[in-house]
Amino acid sequence: MTFNEIQLIQPLLQAITEAGYTEPSPIQAEAIPVLLRGRDIIGCAQTGSGKTAAFALPILQRLSKEKSGHIRALILTPTRELAIQIYDTFRYFGKRLRLHSGAVFGGVSQNPQVDALSRGLDVLIATPGRLNDLINQGYIHLNHIEIFVLDEADRMLDMGFIHDVKKTIKLLPLQRQTMLFSATMPPEIETLAQTLLKNPAMIKVDPTTCAVESIDQCVYMIDKPNKTLLLAELLRTEDIKNALVFTNTKHGADRVVQKLSQEGFVARAIHGDKAQNARQDALKSFRDGRVQILVATDIAARGIDIPELSHVINYDLPDVAETYIHRIGRTGRAGLGGTAISFCNIDHLDNLRGIEKMTGLKIPVRESQWPMLIFEKTVKQVRPPRTERKTPQSKRFSGPPKSRRW
Ligand code: AMP
Repeated sequence: MTFNEIQLIQPLLQAITEAGYTEPSPIQAEAIPVLLRGRDIIGCAQTGSGKTAAFALPILQRLSKEKSGHIRALILTPTRELAIQIYDTFRYFGKRLRLHSGAVFGGVSQNPQVDALSRGLDVLIATPGRLNDLINQGYIHLNHIEIFVLDEADRMLDMGFIHDVKKTIKLLPLQRQTMLFSATMPPEIETLAQTLLKNPAMIKVDPTTCAVESIDQCVYMIDKPNKTLLLAELLRTEDIKNALVFTNTKHGADRVVQKLSQEGFVARAIHGDKAQNARQDALKSFRDGRVQILVATDIAARGIDIPELSHVINYDLPDVAETYIHRIGRTGRAGLGGTAISFCNIDHLDNLRGIEKMTGLKIPVRESQWPMLIFEKTVKQVRPPRTERKTPQSKRFSGPPKSRRW
């Protein structure tokens, strides 16, 4: 099946082509036609299956028919990372439609989110806690919702958000289209589904079906101090037109750029400590082909669109498996066939296992002249919070220091 056969409107088809999606993933092929007919669905699918586009495309198509100035579609998702990812997907596919999407999630100031809400949104992507906060403060009204998506319902349950979710559901108009996505169907979610959905179509895809399967992936097992040597070697010997290199920290991104520059490569970094115009300038130079390597943290790389990206390099493997999928999903666009290369040092071995478990794929290991020799994990020192610093360490910590998550 092709996207053309699914009866999507031209502006969406154009964006799909630009994203390099040559054919719909199984969940997209099954769910989009059903959703376009207005039916409720239960989708058994996880991140990596292409479920975001499976609901974003029909939502955008339906909303594009008329403008109202109210929030008409609400997507509830458990984590900030997913909220950002979904928001980016709506923005990407909706770029030719005059629809506005916004995201609200916790852990950051609510002010920019409130500003975006006050400008008027058609689609709202939200995590449950922040959504309820903003509803209670009177910034969000759900009485015009026509479409409701409950994403990763099983994780909502695991993360203890189900109470907040139920509170939100009570505020939704009864007349609406509802979609529930969940990788598994525990009894509590089944019960919720019975009250939430009307005559839903059940769509289940093979859990190992991964939309990024077609990307050529490999991993090098390598010690941290040798990573820049390997990166420089790959840039010299492989056919790498351009590469987006991901590090887990801002400091790490700067270090990689510094080392690559010493080796004579043209590299720039984008991360949260760089001024907005420096980031834009780096991005523009990368898009124009004047810079071959762009080193980024996940937050800085959000929403940036690079149409012809030959390589994604995970200099550090991410802690969250979905992040891996979203990073590598950026390559292989426009039918160009992309490559994702990852570096795994001993500290990231669990991350690699998590990624392989989630994608259901074993990432082939490639050998280099720098084999892994350090098998002991780094024990990171954690400074206790300010109020606790005066307490003697021996009284506070009985076990080894916890490793810090960046
Ligand atoms: P998701 O499961 O929605 O989080 O999507 C996972 C990744 O698959 C994202 O990076 C998408 O850009 C990519 N993706 C989704 N649908 C397709 C498709 N039809 N063809 C190629 N890649 C896709």
